[in-house]
Amino acid sequence: MNLTNLNLTNLNLKSRIAKITLPLIVLQFAFVSPLNADALSKASDTSSLDAKVQAEQKIQAEQKQHAERLIQHKKMEQEILALVPDTKVQSSIHVLRSRQLRLPIDGITPAVLKGSFAEVRGDSRHEAVDIAAPRNTPVHAIEDGTIAKLFVSRLGGNTIYQTDPSGEYVYYYAHLEGYEPTIKEGDKVKRGQVIGFVGTSGNAPQNTPHLHLSISIQTPEKKWWQARAIDPYEVYKSK
Ligand SMILES: [Zn+2]
Repeated sequence: MNLTNLNLTNLNLKSRIAKITLPLIVLQFAFVSPLNADALSKASDTSSLDAKVQAEQKIQAEQKQHAERLIQHKKMEQEILALVPDTKVQSSIHVLRSRQLRLPIDGITPAVLKGSFAEVRGDSRHEAVDIAAPRNTPVHAIEDGTIAKLFVSRLGGNTIYQTDPSGEYVYYYAHLEGYEPTIKEGDKVKRGQVIGFVGTSGNAPQNTPHLHLSISIQTPEKKWWQARAIDPYEVYKSK
């Protein structure tokens, strides 16, 4: 499941608070005049107080919205868990292992995928692996399949959702610097085909280009945005 789309980190909230605070300082300067400093300083206090209250209300509204999104997200997660139980996860790992998926970046070993799936980022688990690589390193399709969606999201940046040949699994590639220029939604792609390039789009740190890769099992309705993530390391590691 692509949790990054719904994940509003504390860091984001802090930067928003910083943005909100800045205009208050400008406002105070605008109101102070040498002619009637006393009266105006009162006006200034009042208006800055108003602005502060407004800013606080805005932050509270954002926090409420965030909490509501989390509840929605948890609800959807529960639904997906019911539709794709643990036994399905285990059998899928075996199925995908037998297909010997290609690694998306050349020159890496499965060992680099270890551990980051279960990491907690913000309010949710990462449920993906991050593969560090220089900017513009080619990203290869890990299996034959179809480009289900090319989607630019706030957190994931330039992303690709690719399904496998059976349409049962979704491979998600995020933070791309860009797409391979010829690919488009609905295209059939081949294992190893270059589909994009490593970058820092979305919320990836500017100095840490990496590919965010997830592998998910779709629910029986087969909607690319509704799926349960499995640990790519479990799929790639040698027994
Ligand atoms: Zn990631």
